[in-house]
Amino acid sequence: MNMIHRSFLFFLLLSFNIVSAQTKDKLHYKAVLVDTHNDALSSQVLDYSLDISVRQTKGHSDLVRWKEGGLDVQFFSVFTGDKARNKEGFYKDANQEIDSLISIIARNPGKMLLATNYKQVKKGIRQQKIVSLIGVEGGHMIEDDLGKLEALANRGMRYMTLTWNNSTSWASSAMDETLRPDSLKQKGLTEFGKQVVRMMNQMGVIIDLSHTGEQTFYDAIAATTKPVILSHSSVWSLCPVFRNVKDDQVKAVAKNGGVICINFYSGFISRKWDELQRSLNPDSVKAKFIAGLAPNKGLLSDSLRKVEEEREWRKYRADKLDAARPTISELVDHIDYIVKLVGDDHVGIGSDYDGVSSLPVGLDDVTTYPKITEELQRRGYSDRSIKKILGGNVLRVMKANFK
Ligand SMILES: [Zn+2]
Repeated sequence: MNMIHRSFLFFLLLSFNIVSAQTKDKLHYKAVLVDTHNDALSSQVLDYSLDISVRQTKGHSDLVRWKEGGLDVQFFSVFTGDKARNKEGFYKDANQEIDSLISIIARNPGKMLLATNYKQVKKGIRQQKIVSLIGVEGGHMIEDDLGKLEALANRGMRYMTLTWNNSTSWASSAMDETLRPDSLKQKGLTEFGKQVVRMMNQMGVIIDLSHTGEQTFYDAIAATTKPVILSHSSVWSLCPVFRNVKDDQVKAVAKNGGVICINFYSGFISRKWDELQRSLNPDSVKAKFIAGLAPNKGLLSDSLRKVEEEREWRKYRADKLDAARPTISELVDHIDYIVKLVGDDHVGIGSDYDGVSSLPVGLDDVTTYPKITEELQRRGYSDRSIKKILGGNVLRVMKANFK
C-alpha cells in the first residue's frame, strides 16, 4: 500500500470514528427513549405477516429501524377492534397477539427482552436491547371477567387502555361519550369498572386513559391509587378532536403524577389537517369530484369506469391530505403546550406508529425520533428536560406501578 492510499484509509477511519462518536455522544442516543404505543403487532405481524426482525420497506417499524431511531423501550399494543378476529372472541385475540410477541422475542434473544417488572426494564436498557412490554388496547378484551384480567396480567400485560373506541359494559369511551351519547346505557365507570381499576393497581398494570370518555377519565383518576398514562393522545386545545385531552384533564394527570404520551397522527396534531379530512368525507364531495372528471371516461364500460373513478378519487384525496400534513414543529407544540401548562414531568412519546395513516412531514417511520429531540434542543430545552420527555417520565410511572 503506498503512502497516498494509506493516508486515505487513515482519513476514512478517522472520519468514521468522528461520525460514530458524534452519534454516540448525541443526547438523543444517550437518553432512554420510551414509546408507549406501537401497533406493529396487529398490522406488520398479523395483517401483513412481516418479519419485523429484519428491515422492512412496508410499515413504520422493525428491529433494525428502531435501533436507528434510538428506541430503548416499546409498549407493543395488543389491538383488536370492536369485531373479534377469532370466533372465540376478544380474549382469544389478545392471547394470540401476546403469543406472537413472545415468539418474536424468543427468536431474537440478542435484540429484544420481554419486561414485566421494573428490574427487567432497567436490565434490558443496560443490555441495549429493545425492551418490550405488553399494552392491551381496550377493556373489551377481558370480556367482563376479572379472571381474564388477572390471566392477562399474569401473562405480562403492563398497561390496559380501559376502552378503545367501543365502550364496555363498565366504561364509556371518548367516541361514544362525544359522538353517540344516546347509545350509552351508562356514562363513566360502573362499580365493576372501579373494581377493574383497583385490581390493575394491585397487579402492577398501568391504567391507560387514552380513548376513554371524560367521565370515565375522571372516575378512573378518582379510583386509582397509582399514576396513570395516556398512551397515545395529544392536546385538545391545539387540535380539538375527541381523542385528545382538554386542559383540565392535563392538570388532573399532573396532579395524579401521570404522563400524557403524544400521539403523532396528523389528525390529532393539526386542526387544519383534521378539518380538511372531514371536508373530504361526505359522499357529495366525492360525487362532485367524479362528475368533474374528463369526459373520455365515458368510453369505458360501466364497471371499468367505476374502478377508474374510484382510483382517481382516492389519489386526489390522498394527495390533498399529504400536502397538508403538519410539521415536526407543530407536533412539538403539543409537548411544549403541556410543559407550559403543568411542567416537564407529565409528557412523553406515544407515537402510534403502524396504527396511523398519516404522520407529520419528516416523521415517516421509527428512524425519525431524533428529529423531535433536535426540535426540543432548537427551542432551548435543557438536557434534563429532554431526557424526562423522551422516557424518564414514563419510567417513573412504570416504577410506581410495577411490582
Ligand atoms: Zn388507539
